[in-house]
Amino acid sequence: MKQATKFIHAGSEPDPSTGAIMTPIYQTSTYVQEAPGKNKGYEYARSQNPTRKALEEALAIIENGKYGLAFSSGVAATDAVIKLLKPGDEVIAANDLYGGTYRLFTKVFEKFGIKFLYIDMHDAENIKQYITPNTKLIWTETPSNPLMNICDLAAISSIAKKNNILVCVDNTFASPYLQNPLDLGADIVMHSSTKYLGGHSDVIQGSLSMNNIALREQLYFIQKSCGAVPGPMDCFLVLRGIKTLHVRMKQHCENGKIIAHWLRNHPKVGKVYWPGFEDHPGYAIAKKQMRDFGGMLSFALKDDSTANAMRVLSSTKLFALAESLGGVESLINHPASMTHASIPRDERIKNGLTDSLIRLSVGIEDAEDLTEDLKLAIG
Ligand SMILES: *Cc1c(COP(=O)(O)O)cnc(C)c1O
Repeated sequence: MKQATKFIHAGSEPDPSTGAIMTPIYQTSTYVQEAPGKNKGYEYARSQNPTRKALEEALAIIENGKYGLAFSSGVAATDAVIKLLKPGDEVIAANDLYGGTYRLFTKVFEKFGIKFLYIDMHDAENIKQYITPNTKLIWTETPSNPLMNICDLAAISSIAKKNNILVCVDNTFASPYLQNPLDLGADIVMHSSTKYLGGHSDVIQGSLSMNNIALREQLYFIQKSCGAVPGPMDCFLVLRGIKTLHVRMKQHCENGKIIAHWLRNHPKVGKVYWPGFEDHPGYAIAKKQMRDFGGMLSFALKDDSTANAMRVLSSTKLFALAESLGGVESLINHPASMTHASIPRDERIKNGLTDSLIRLSVGIEDAEDLTEDLKLAIG
């Protein structure tokens, strides 16, 4: 089945009791049983809910996996993956992870004796020197935030496989429309469904997709034991969001391309970070593992000062100043003072995250209106 058909029909069966074409929101905490243990497969809603079940089937299908699990947020999904590990285990993570992932690893899990190494993964070979007998998981993200660095998922997965290490890919920025890490050899795909899957900035949710039944059983056990499950209304919203993912992503990509090129030709704009430029260091790999280049991009200003960035950020009318990404509306943010404020300035600048760097989540409005908005703001 082709992608567009999959996104619309994944997990959706007419409701058995009424024929309703959309999966109803089963707003219930428990299910009546005929006799103890004699039930229709539903006992208690932390463990099972029909709306969540429909969504979880969709989460499997859209990532070309066999199983899906939904969580109450993206970080809750990440939390579940790390709970597969035990004290003494080591995780090799990319050094440009989403800030909330880095915080969860360092501030929550390190104290339980799990070790995290943060390394440059843009050359997959670099990983080899950090592997020890205790390495159990590789955690990566591509394109990365906010500099849109690309890493080679097939190469990373092949190194991991040879060493019996699990690979989990945070696929939030690409979305399953652009990239399917399970097809490239990854074991688990994680999403902040809050972003492109939901797509309308109205829900917080996370997901995991996988092929291995034993892994699914372990993660399901963690999901029900730790209890970070999404409510049925939120499951409904993400299920609905997935149905238009391909239509939205197509437009995000088209607008992203127009704005990336427009910015690049602007006399006051410095470097533009977007993986669709042929001179982007990750271009060849992006072309190989992604279907298009997405609507996330960042740019620096030639006058590289915080004040100049602030001037632009406070002047846009359509681009709303906000954290998050992946909704239909365009957002603008300032990584140095917002998402990446906790990184010391020297280290931040050394990694290319300069004072004036601005990140855009390009929405699906009319591209001409978006460039006009940026034109007035940049001046
Ligand atoms: C937002 C985000 C997360 C965290 O997801 P929440 O839904 O906010 O908990 C993880 N990874 C990436 C890349 C994100 O953008």
